[in-house]
Amino acid sequence: MRTLAAFLMLGVLAPTGAVLWFMNDAARSQAEAARQNVTEAYRGQMRLLRDRIDALWRQKAAALDRPLGFEAAIDAAGADSAVLLDANGGVQYPVTGLSAAADPLSSDARWVAAEALEAKPRLLDAAAAYEVIARSSPDPSMAARAAQAQIRCLIRGGRKDMALAAIGRSFTAGRPSRGRDFEGRWIAADEQLLGVQLAGHDPALRRRFADRLASWLNRYEEVEIPSAQRVFLMRELAAAVPELPPFPRYEAERLALEFAAPVRIRKGTAALEPSGIAGVWKLSSANGRIVALYRTASAEREVATVLGSQTGNARFAAGPVGSGAGMDPMPAGATMPGWQLSYTLVDASAVDQASRRRTATYLWIGYAAVALVAVAGLLAAGAFGRQLRLARLKTDLVASVSHELRTPLASMRLLVDTLLEEGAADGRKTREYLALIAAENARLSRLIENFLTFSRIERRRQRYEFGKVSPAQVVEDAVLAMRERLPNAAVTVEVSRGLPEIHADADAVVAVLLNLLENAWKYTGAEKRIALSASADGEGVNFFVQDNGIGIPPREQKRIFRRFYQVDQRLARERGGCGLGLSIVDAIVRAHNGFVEVKSAVGAGSTFRVWLPREARA
Ligand code: ADP
Repeated sequence: MRTLAAFLMLGVLAPTGAVLWFMNDAARSQAEAARQNVTEAYRGQMRLLRDRIDALWRQKAAALDRPLGFEAAIDAAGADSAVLLDANGGVQYPVTGLSAAADPLSSDARWVAAEALEAKPRLLDAAAAYEVIARSSPDPSMAARAAQAQIRCLIRGGRKDMALAAIGRSFTAGRPSRGRDFEGRWIAADEQLLGVQLAGHDPALRRRFADRLASWLNRYEEVEIPSAQRVFLMRELAAAVPELPPFPRYEAERLALEFAAPVRIRKGTAALEPSGIAGVWKLSSANGRIVALYRTASAEREVATVLGSQTGNARFAAGPVGSGAGMDPMPAGATMPGWQLSYTLVDASAVDQASRRRTATYLWIGYAAVALVAVAGLLAAGAFGRQLRLARLKTDLVASVSHELRTPLASMRLLVDTLLEEGAADGRKTREYLALIAAENARLSRLIENFLTFSRIERRRQRYEFGKVSPAQVVEDAVLAMRERLPNAAVTVEVSRGLPEIHADADAVVAVLLNLLENAWKYTGAEKRIALSASADGEGVNFFVQDNGIGIPPREQKRIFRRFYQVDQRLARERGGCGLGLSIVDAIVRAHNGFVEVKSAVGAGSTFRVWLPREARA
C-alpha cells in the first residue's frame, strides 16, 4: 500500500512539476517579449519626436532671420537672452560702452573756470558756473555733463535740496536729459539713481525717482542704454528700493553680457549648440545676426512643447547627454547635438500587465492540468484501494468460512460415526447425540446465515421489509431462537409495558438481538447471567443485552463493530465466532436509522444498547 501511494504521488508530482516548470518558462519569455515590444514602440516614437524637435529649432532660427531688437529677438525665440551681431560678426548688443575719445570740454574756457572754482573749493560758485554752461550749451551731452557737475557741487556744498531740485529740472526732459558721458553712458539715468539715494528722507520723492528710472530701464524701444550701465543700474536700484517689481530682462542682460564679453562670437548653424558657458546653449539665425541663448531648463521647456506631455504610458523628455534620468536614451537629432531623448514610464507596472494576464492564463491552465492529474490520481487510488479491500475481504472470508465450517462439520461427523458404531443400543444416548448433532447443525445454519447476510450487506443487496413491529414480539422471538440454539441458556427478559411499536424489519431486529445474545453467551464464564430488556426512550425504543462476561477493554469498544474484528482471536475461534456478528448488527441498526453502543469494563461484563426509532426517519 505504501509503495502504491509512493507511485501515485510520483505519478502526480512529476507531471505537476513539469507543468509548473513549463508555465514558469513560458511566462518569463512572455514578459520579456512584451517588454521588448513596448521598448521598440517607444523607440519608434522617439524617432518621430526627433523630427519634430528638428522642425522646432529650424523654425526658431528662421524666426530670428530678420532685423530684431534685443527684446524682440528674445521673445521671438522664446529664449533666455540674445546677442545681436553686426554684419562683420561684431557685437551690436549688448553694447558694453563706447571707446573714450578726447574730452571736448577740456578746451572750453567756461568749463575750465568752473573746474577751478570747484577745486578751490568754492562749491556754490562752481555750481552756479556749471549751471550757466548747462543752460547755454547746445550739445546735449555737454549740457548734461555740466548739469551733472552742478549737482555734484551742490551736494558737496551741503545743498542736497538744491541738488534734488536740479536733478528734477535737468534730467527729466530737455536737452541735458538726452546727454551721454564720453563712455556712452546715459547721464540722466545715473542721475535718477543719485536722486533715489539723496531723497532718502522723502519716500514719495524717492519713489518718483525710482519709478522713473525703472520705467527707463525696462524700456528698450526709445531709450538706448549700454548693457553694462543698464545691468548696473538695475542691480543698484533693486538694492536701494527693494519694493520695486523685479526687472524682467535683468537675467537676459546679464547672460548676454557674459556671453558677448569674453569671446568673439562665431556664426553658428540653425542648431542648439553649446555656447561656451556651462548650462547655456545658443541658436543662431541663418543670417548670423542674432544669437539666441537658452539655459538648459529653458531649452528643455521649449522641447517639451513638441514632445507632448504623455504618449500612452510614456513621458518623453530631452536633456543634455549624461543628464541621465530616462530610459533607453537616444541622440536628440541634428538640431540638438549633445542632447538625448529618453522616456520614463508613468506606470512601470503597466508594461507587465499584458504579460501578467497571459501568465495568469497559463497558470490557470496549469492549475487545471494539475488538478486534473490529482483528481485522476485520487480516483485511481480510490478504485485501487477498493479493489484491494475487496480482495482482502474475500481471502478473510474464505479463511474464516473454511475454518468455521470445519468445526461443526467435524463434531457432527464424530457424533454420527459414534452413533453408527454403537447402533441403536442405547435409546437415551442416541437421543442425546442427535440433540448435539441438531445443535451443531443449528450453529452451522446460523453461521451460514450470518455469512449470507454479511455478503448481502457488503454487496448492498440486503433488503428490509419495514413495518410496524412490536418490541415485545421481537424480544420473544429472539429468546426463542436463542433457546433453540442453546437449550440450556438462561436469559432474564424484561419488557416495559405499553411500549410503542417500532418501524422496522422484524426478522432483521431478531437477528440483531440474537447476535448480541449469542455473544453474551459466548463471552461469559461458567456462571452466565444474561439479561435482555426493552424500554421506551424518546422517539424510540432501547434494547439492552447485558452479561456478566469477560468485558471489553475501552480502546477495543469501537473496533469490535468492524468486520472480522476480534479482541482475542483464539478465544473467539474457540467459542465459534468469525468477527462478523457485530458488523452485521451495526449495518442493520444503521439501516433502521438507529444506533448501537456498548458499555463495558474488563471482568465486569458488558451491556450493549440498541436504539431503534418509532417512526421512519429521513
Ligand atoms: P465473533 O464472531 O468473533 O463473536 P463479533 O463481531 O460478534 O464476532 O464480535 C467481535 C468481537 O467482540 C468478539 O470477537 C469479542 O472479542 C468481542 N465481543 C463481542 N461481544 C462481546 C461480549 N458480550 N463480551 C465480551 N466481548 C465481546
